[in-house]
Amino acid sequence: MTSYTELGLANTRELFKKAMAGGYAIPAYNFNNMEQIQAIIQACVETKSPVILQVSSGARKYANQTILRNMARAAVEYANELGHDIPIVLHLDHGDTFELCKDCIETGFSSVMIDGSHFSYEENVALTRKVCEFAHSQKDYVTVEGELGILAGVEDDVSSEHSHYTEPEEVIDFVNKTKVDSLAISIGTSHGRAKFKPEQCTRDANGILIPPPLRFDILEEIEKKIPGFPIVLHGASSVPVEYVAMIEKFGGKLSDSVGIPEEQLRRAAKSAVCKINIDSDGRLAMTAMLRKVFTEKPDEFDPRKYLGPARDELKKLYMHKNTNVLGSAGQA
Ligand SMILES: [Zn+2]
Repeated sequence: MTSYTELGLANTRELFKKAMAGGYAIPAYNFNNMEQIQAIIQACVETKSPVILQVSSGARKYANQTILRNMARAAVEYANELGHDIPIVLHLDHGDTFELCKDCIETGFSSVMIDGSHFSYEENVALTRKVCEFAHSQKDYVTVEGELGILAGVEDDVSSEHSHYTEPEEVIDFVNKTKVDSLAISIGTSHGRAKFKPEQCTRDANGILIPPPLRFDILEEIEKKIPGFPIVLHGASSVPVEYVAMIEKFGGKLSDSVGIPEEQLRRAAKSAVCKINIDSDGRLAMTAMLRKVFTEKPDEFDPRKYLGPARDELKKLYMHKNTNVLGSAGQA
């Protein structure tokens, strides 16, 4: 049994309160390896931003949970070493069972998501409430994120063919019955790098796909139903055309990639949206740089010489997100 406070981690409670008052969102970046942790911590220390480190079930399978938890512990010390303590949350992304959430809580996670969005409403309420009761009864309060509504797209083990917007009528009942600390909603974001089918989009003069706008009307209705309650956006990568172009220039193929425009995320971050999940953009940044290095230096075989530039590109991306998209820079 390890409490997250022993690892130097924070839960999301105070962070979301400040984010709500300050009109910004906390970045939630996924990690599976050392280069990603280095990029996240360097970027967040340099921009003085709080950060949520996310572990998906795919990451647990790939990297092993013990290793990931200790990387989060190392991240706390590393930030301190870099000269500026920032609040760091270790969060389970898309927990799908009570047992998984319990296991994470007992081994040092400060926050968990229980995603019951694929069940019936009643089953979602029951499962989420069960996780909240356990998480909130710990000596150190662990925060819980629930989900209402279904996002389309594919992310590790989570996938759905069709989206289903959150019903604003359900949110008060869900929050009251479950006692959840934050709520992921579906207003048109989507997992993965191809967030919309081309036929759902328009094209600009250069043939670039323009996605349908986020449903800010639904977000506003939800804000009216549960004022001051922290909202979370999943699937909020922007899928920068520069990275897609770079990947394709150096031999990759990513047809019909399209993400959520950054101006829309900027707008969402100023509302009750307190946490924005970004994963695909980081994957694209690393892949673009790896392909470039491999193409330009075909004789390179030292992993540090290609993983290093990929890490630096990732750091650059995250600094940009904190500063220009989420508004979290300078808040820690
Ligand atoms: Zn997600």
